[in-house]
Amino acid sequence: MSEQRSLWAKYRSIPLVYRIGVAFVLGSILGLIFGDTMTRLQPLGDLFIRLLKMVVIPIVFFTLIMGMKRLTPSKLGKIGGQTVLFYVVTTAIAIVIGLFIANMTSPGVGLTLKTQGEIAAKEAPNIMKVIVDIVPKNVVGAFADGNVLQTIFFAITFGIALAVLQENGSENIQKGAETIFNLVETCAEAMFKIVWGIMEYGVIGIFALMASVFGQTGVNAILPFAKLIGSLTLAVTVHIILTYLLVIIIGFVGQSPLAFLRGVKDAMLTALSIRSSSGTLPVSMSNAEDDLMIDESVFSFTLPLGATINMDGTAMYQGVAAIFAANLIGQTLTIGQQMTVVLTTTLASIGTAGVPGSGLIMLSMVLTQLGLPLEVVGFVAGIDPILDRLRTMNNVTGDLAVTTLVAKLNNAIDFTKGVWVSEDSKNIVG
Ligand code: ASP
Repeated sequence: MSEQRSLWAKYRSIPLVYRIGVAFVLGSILGLIFGDTMTRLQPLGDLFIRLLKMVVIPIVFFTLIMGMKRLTPSKLGKIGGQTVLFYVVTTAIAIVIGLFIANMTSPGVGLTLKTQGEIAAKEAPNIMKVIVDIVPKNVVGAFADGNVLQTIFFAITFGIALAVLQENGSENIQKGAETIFNLVETCAEAMFKIVWGIMEYGVIGIFALMASVFGQTGVNAILPFAKLIGSLTLAVTVHIILTYLLVIIIGFVGQSPLAFLRGVKDAMLTALSIRSSSGTLPVSMSNAEDDLMIDESVFSFTLPLGATINMDGTAMYQGVAAIFAANLIGQTLTIGQQMTVVLTTTLASIGTAGVPGSGLIMLSMVLTQLGLPLEVVGFVAGIDPILDRLRTMNNVTGDLAVTTLVAKLNNAIDFTKGVWVSEDSKNIVG
């Protein structure tokens, strides 16, 4: 009995991210070795995704209300403006990097297009409609649908109203508002506790997800697309190192890139495993609070917003895939066409949800815009579960990098605690 307990204690003493990392690699390898039988593990992985989804809306709702306690509407406007600006600029940079790398690697040369049936084009989301839809018709409906943008909107208005009442209401109302804030704070903390519990289960969940996806796809299906997967991997790596680490974290924030990576590793691994930025939100928020030491007033707003409107990896993939599609039919994209990709995709990524596979839907829009064969969507659909992981990991890292920058600009981050003070992060940058 005591031996069992000490084994468990030993297991728990290994940092969670290593246990998850090993589960990820082991799952992938066993999936490739044992093939289709491993898909039976899928329900264990689905359980992990459901657990995370369970806490997305409550965590967004509670932390945003708490955030509003410390934000005046004008400060919120300033933070909102900065956040959207950085999100859009980093997305545009991501697409340019994607296009540049794909121009060099020509990922589709040497392949012939085998079609898999008719693919319907998807319309670009109308930007006005996206804006009008932010206001929920029905608050409970917004929660029930898991609509993050609508939940953000309601939580902000409710939080501001509470903060105003706490200042100006009658004595009773002031007390009531304070009680609600205290309650909400407790609820938010409880949600974070649940997230860490879910991550403990994540070791099994992630093992199952990886075993199942590689069991299904198999090496033979992946090999012809090696150049496409390689190009996207290269583009994602370059964007993370150049834009996030060098420019944002070292250049603007003035901190160690290793410390940042240590602070966001759980979110990155989760995104890689579940391929949904919205689903990863609870983990990104825990990382922002407990590791990056960012104040709730910033991350409670910027992260849910980022999970819905900021998709650097997804946008970058459109550039890579457009060139891949052009290669397949022996064409090249003109500079004008490549500019179209940058514009369409930057706008489209704002209106596309951070859920598995949405990047593939966006691709049908981009290809239509460029007059390239839509069949390419069907052609790459088989390996999308792999490409999607890279895109989502990039999306989530981008949300956290911009959040760190906005927090720094608004003095809402504590660099004397958390990952920023661990050994190897000292003295890298003044
Ligand atoms: N799965 C991605 C996300 O959730 C979107 C995509 O690229 O398909 O961020």
